[in-house]
Amino acid sequence: MLRPIHRVRCWKGLQAGFDLQVNLVLWLCEPATKPIGVSKSALSAVHPDEGVQTWLWNFLLPRPKHERLLKAARQLAGQSNTAKARLQVWIKEVRDADRQFKHRHAAWPAPLKGLPKWNAFKELNEAFYERLKSVGVPFSTSGKPSKTRRIFYKDFVEQFRKLNGLEVCVFCGGPLGNPKVDHWVSKAKYPLLSIAPHNLTPICHRCNEPPCKGTKDVFQAGAANAFGDWFHPYFRSGFGAYSLIHDWPLTRVEGAATDSTKNLHLQNLQSLLELPNRWTEEFQLKYDSLRRTLRKKVREGELQVTTVALHAKIAEWHGELDEHRPHYAVHELLLRQAQQPDRLSAWLLDLQEI
Ligand SMILES: [Zn+2]
Repeated sequence: MLRPIHRVRCWKGLQAGFDLQVNLVLWLCEPATKPIGVSKSALSAVHPDEGVQTWLWNFLLPRPKHERLLKAARQLAGQSNTAKARLQVWIKEVRDADRQFKHRHAAWPAPLKGLPKWNAFKELNEAFYERLKSVGVPFSTSGKPSKTRRIFYKDFVEQFRKLNGLEVCVFCGGPLGNPKVDHWVSKAKYPLLSIAPHNLTPICHRCNEPPCKGTKDVFQAGAANAFGDWFHPYFRSGFGAYSLIHDWPLTRVEGAATDSTKNLHLQNLQSLLELPNRWTEEFQLKYDSLRRTLRKKVREGELQVTTVALHAKIAEWHGELDEHRPHYAVHELLLRQAQQPDRLSAWLLDLQEI
């Protein structure tokens, strides 16, 4: 989180999709909702708009002989009232994840994997994310029901990149490539948050995949203030809370919190994404590349081996850095440090050997 992370324009539309998802599963867990009662006409209890009801029915029953999600919905509706009540409490606690991040709240609930119908619940919720990709959620950017201006996964990613950087991953500062949308709180463990806008961030593949983030937790399980020592992409970003350091003569690049109250936040983030290893790797690659370039310039007579000439060349490269390019923070650190007297002397010694 070396860059600020801004909310996309379609946030309200995604939030409306998330609210629809939550309302559906809460309704399925009402004691009065029975399996046979899960029908198109009954969906008016979930959302008042007819277009949204049609979308929802098509979601449950995309083709006449393909009733997978309808079966899952009916399994949830067919649970005992005790199981329904337990699931409703869990849904309401997880639904309020944004409040958990913003304020200190009651303990964050563990996944309900032991629940008899957990697999049906998970399948139904995760399908909202699949539909966001394939047919879009039935709301416009403003959050109003819409048949023609639905919000799609690709809209979200495009808007995010335009706003937060086309080329750079907002988590690690490396190349974004073809980004994947990360679920800050794991979708596998908390499927209810599969399209919650505050839980979605397009990031690079390396950040998103194991051994980096994967499905690792971003909270301290069981703690009263589970999210208290964690950054959050939107509500408590790490931007500005730390900078990179490289302790000479050590060769490791890592973050240093600007405020000691953020030390644990930083540690958690670095461990989640294996950032020091990755930053150090890039630092060494750039160092080797600079060394090759400088040696070539000396060999070809383009650079004099003097402190003044070397400093001028490194300062020139430092001034040419573009903060919108990948690895800016690591390269900036290297070139800034390289201008310090002890480092310049070391570079000079190296070049004098040619
Ligand atoms: Zn990344």
